Amino acid sequence: MALDRKILGIVGIVIVAAIPLLPLPPFWITLLNNIGLASLVAIGLVLLTGVGGLTSFGQAAFCGFGAYTTAVLTTAYGFSPWLTLPLSLLVGGAVALPLGLITVRLSGHFLPLGTIAWGLALYYLFGQIELIGRYDGISGIPPLELGGYRFLSSGSIFYIIWGFVIATAIGTRNLLDSRVGRAIRALRGGSQAAEAFGVDIVRAKLTVFIFAGVLAALSGWLYAHMQRSVNPTPFGLNMGIEYLLMAVVGGAGHVWGAIFGASLVLILKDLLQRLLPSLIGSTANYEMIVFGILLVAILQFTRDGLWSLVLRLVPKSPRRKLAETDRRLEKREMPAAGTPLVRLDHARKTFGGLVAVNDVSFEVKAGEIVGLIGPNGAGKSTTFNLITAISPLSGGGIAYGGRKLETLSPGQVARQGIARTFQHAKILPDMTVLENVALGAHLRGSSGVARCFLRLDRAEEAVLLAEAERQLERVGLAAYRDRPAGDLALGQIRILEIARALSLDPALLLLDEPAAGLRHGEKQELSDLLKRLRAEGVGVLLVEHDMSFVMGLVDHLVVLDFGTLIAEGKPADVRQHPAVLAAYLGGVS
Ligand code: ADP
Ligand code: MG
Repeated sequence: MALDRKILGIVGIVIVAAIPLLPLPPFWITLLNNIGLASLVAIGLVLLTGVGGLTSFGQAAFCGFGAYTTAVLTTAYGFSPWLTLPLSLLVGGAVALPLGLITVRLSGHFLPLGTIAWGLALYYLFGQIELIGRYDGISGIPPLELGGYRFLSSGSIFYIIWGFVIATAIGTRNLLDSRVGRAIRALRGGSQAAEAFGVDIVRAKLTVFIFAGVLAALSGWLYAHMQRSVNPTPFGLNMGIEYLLMAVVGGAGHVWGAIFGASLVLILKDLLQRLLPSLIGSTANYEMIVFGILLVAILQFTRDGLWSLVLRLVPKSPRRKLAETDRRLEKREMPAAGTPLVRLDHARKTFGGLVAVNDVSFEVKAGEIVGLIGPNGAGKSTTFNLITAISPLSGGGIAYGGRKLETLSPGQVARQGIARTFQHAKILPDMTVLENVALGAHLRGSSGVARCFLRLDRAEEAVLLAEAERQLERVGLAAYRDRPAGDLALGQIRILEIARALSLDPALLLLDEPAAGLRHGEKQELSDLLKRLRAEGVGVLLVEHDMSFVMGLVDHLVVLDFGTLIAEGKPADVRQHPAVLAAYLGGVS
């Protein structure tokens, strides 16, 4: 199958290379060039909107920055076109950085509205600046040149445009299938889990924002040298909307879908512009109305875009073969058993008038399993959120190996070696089981965007995936490795979360009701796994309602009731404690 895909790819490239040699009307080649230029912007939007969940109507403005940068530098300052390529990309990225910093902090519908606002503002800005010719723009831009050959005809610049498109598509696919890609893909599924494993959410959002901006600038740079003149019109909001339409039509999560979407929208636009006036009998931008209907229809009937329908025709790849590797990730040096790990000191959390955690103090040592029990609403999950810095303390302190945890971010807490599972499972259902688990090892890798784009991260990636697979084997989910995580049963998802937590190589493991939904045999296996972890020196804090499960396992028990610690000690002692009997365990003992 991998081979088949390779052959398909090669066939595709040969077809693309042959197109200008065919006796096609020149108008077709121009259309294909425009499709190529639009594909670059749409690929950026696939990452930004389809994968990252950030909807932008303003991408055309970045094309403008790429185009104007080279237009000004080549016409007014005599720069050679190739020299302006990195500068155009740099300007695109440099504009995307501050805009991104503002935009990615907006949430809900404010984000697309924000992109409309700056998309419009930049369009008018282009039209106002004297240096760039106001609404007349700049003409006389030199063509691209290579070894004395001037790319003047649309048939020749076709190769440059599509060369960039194919390289970008391949690089973007590489990026998505990597450590950075997992972080980006985690942005959509509620970011709390990703954050708990050290993904810097703002940084990941900024990364896709700048990436998309740079791709749009590349498209603008190519456009300027194809058209040989620029003016503000193609960089306005109309085009921004069209680019978004392309990404959505293609299927906002698929890189090749972006090219598909760009083709569909531009060919349709061309047909409509020729057909509609003769049908209706007057000329106007009627195609925009059809586009609007199309967008609604696609969102209604196939949210995943039309490319997903095409993909259904291609047989699915069987089990993915992982790259062989002899290397292993370095293991954390575990503190000696009995060393205090985390210590809560009068930790307190209030929500308005409600005291969810009321001056609670206890500690968890290395090589020890501590059970944290109490009725629903007692404050157990909130305690987890305090330790992992997901919610800030209202009072008191939490120390971990001498460091104050409350001053750290969730990612920094993860870096200390603290991993957790969530009572309400937070997995990424569209990612495979393996990828979900590999997210847990995020902090154990270091490859950045450029390495992943260029596929220089393969050695590290192989080690990360091998580690994720090892953890899957350890918890007994290896058979589900390549299935979408959303296919698993609830109990299996809890186990998946444990594998993800183990991929962090934790010294302290926080498990929030891991046995809920497990069958008896599975509970037994989980219990054995926790005992093995304890023997390795891991400290475990376990929230669990099943008392027979807890009693046979934990070394120490902490009981909360209405946020207050009412008893702690050895399990056998605690279950006799009058306050505990009264509050909670009465029926069990
Ligand atoms: P447990 O995990 O022991 O069942 P929780 O820690 O989830 O309990 O909740 C403790 C109390 O805090 C409950 O009364 C719950 O309603 C409240 N609570 C938890 N999170 C929030 C929040 N984000 N905002 C307001 N109240 C909350
Ligand atoms: Mg809870």
